[in-house]
Amino acid sequence: MARLFEYQSKELLKKQNIPVPSGKVCQTPKQASDAAREINKPVAIKAQTWFTGRAAVGGIGFAENPEEASGIAKNILGKTIRNFTVGEVLVEEKLSIKDEMFASITIDDLERAPVLLFSLKGGSGIEKIARDYPESIIKYTIDINSGLRDFEALNLLRKFDIEGKILLQVSRLLVNLVKVALAYEARSVEINPIAVTEEGKVFAADCRITVDDYAVFRHPDLGITYARELDAPPTPLDKLAYSIEKDDYRGTFYFIQLEKNFKKNERYLGFHGAGGGGSMMSMDAIQRRGYKLANFCDTSGNPPASKVYRAAKIILSQKGIDGYFGSGSGVASQEQIHSARGLVKAFLEENLNIPAVIRLGGNMEEKAVEILQNYTKGVPAPVEGYTKDDSADYCAERMDELLKEYKPLKDNKKPEVGLKKVDYEFETVTGSVKFQYDLCMKCSSKICIESCEPNILKLENGAPVLAVSVADAKKGKCTECLGCELECRMHGENGCYVDLPVEDFA
Ligand code: SF4
Ligand code: SF4
Repeated sequence: MARLFEYQSKELLKKQNIPVPSGKVCQTPKQASDAAREINKPVAIKAQTWFTGRAAVGGIGFAENPEEASGIAKNILGKTIRNFTVGEVLVEEKLSIKDEMFASITIDDLERAPVLLFSLKGGSGIEKIARDYPESIIKYTIDINSGLRDFEALNLLRKFDIEGKILLQVSRLLVNLVKVALAYEARSVEINPIAVTEEGKVFAADCRITVDDYAVFRHPDLGITYARELDAPPTPLDKLAYSIEKDDYRGTFYFIQLEKNFKKNERYLGFHGAGGGGSMMSMDAIQRRGYKLANFCDTSGNPPASKVYRAAKIILSQKGIDGYFGSGSGVASQEQIHSARGLVKAFLEENLNIPAVIRLGGNMEEKAVEILQNYTKGVPAPVEGYTKDDSADYCAERMDELLKEYKPLKDNKKPEVGLKKVDYEFETVTGSVKFQYDLCMKCSSKICIESCEPNILKLENGAPVLAVSVADAKKGKCTECLGCELECRMHGENGCYVDLPVEDFA
């Protein structure tokens, strides 16, 4: 989920006529003092981060004048709090708050609808407030066709003893908040606190909006370049991984770097899961044996082999990892041969020099393990494949044993990849398939043809060509299953290469 900063969230509220304190986002102390001067009142200076609880960690300060605002901004800007380096502060009018309320809208997966939560008491520790004062809470399921209508909001609030003028403002705020949530396909919107000032005005004093990852492309105006929910800005590798996923809707690929600066006395593994729950279990199993995870990665939902290949390349690009541990749900409905092929291509291209243990539980798992183990026999490090009958704990144990036994080659050379010349090629959804015909002419197996499950290759004068149009192959008839390349490597003359570039990949 893509989280917006407070100032971005407030811009959206403003557009929907929800009052917010006047303020400005600033990147330097000078800008902060200028903003305070312009506001011409005491101001709050707030670090723009994705995590909550900023006040407790020195991320919020108050200033009476522009000089103080500059000093506080200087202290906050550039500070690293919880792995997040603050690059911007919001300087805004300090409100004289009399009362605090709370409102949120979240997608309730059980209700399959947005649910409005309103609390008469707001502020920090809202979960405790909800527990201690259940009578101050309203929960209301929103009809996405009609939104929240004025009379509904008023009826909801009438159970509380709210002064008439305030009641109308809060009710309007709730109606408009629902409009914001629906317009931007938010997974969650939260205003905490809704501030009621001494002057009897109602403001959204703090706000956070999280947009559904899969809706981000419909809202280019939000300027979201990385649709993932993180507490810290993405690393270059996180961004690279996201660039692979963002336009390829076949299956899912999630990657996040957990450690960048490896400690000398720790051992780090690249982790590649498939399916949330099984991945959690697998990560626990390996961490119990004293290993650290360099990254979390998930490829699931029946991803093409090309996506698994790129995921593996990204995991392996983390220099200094000691092993590759792949283990997920164990009973995935996705065809595991695609995962196996993606891994094999990456392991061969990298000449894998760290042990790998991969649990490929799910459809066609026996075949997948066979492909994984047989096709990687030429790499220096051991590669072991397992199925659903082998527990995550057993796989972690094998990983541990291999890591203790295997001594990586000091001078590991990657092989040259690709063909010496290309006589025929066609584009696929994210790459291209290439052939070198002098090798094809010498080949007796022509295995590329039968290994192409979608049946889009045929022989013409003894060499493979497309049996469908170039346009259809590009649109997805070529499923990027990697069958042609890998079977050719094993049984043919190495006359085929599936080129799957990764943007900006070193
Ligand atoms: S299997 Fe390989 S070498 Fe043989 S025809 Fe197909 S692509 Fe060419
Ligand atoms: S040409 Fe056929 S075998 Fe080769 S990647 Fe495409 S679909 Fe797979």
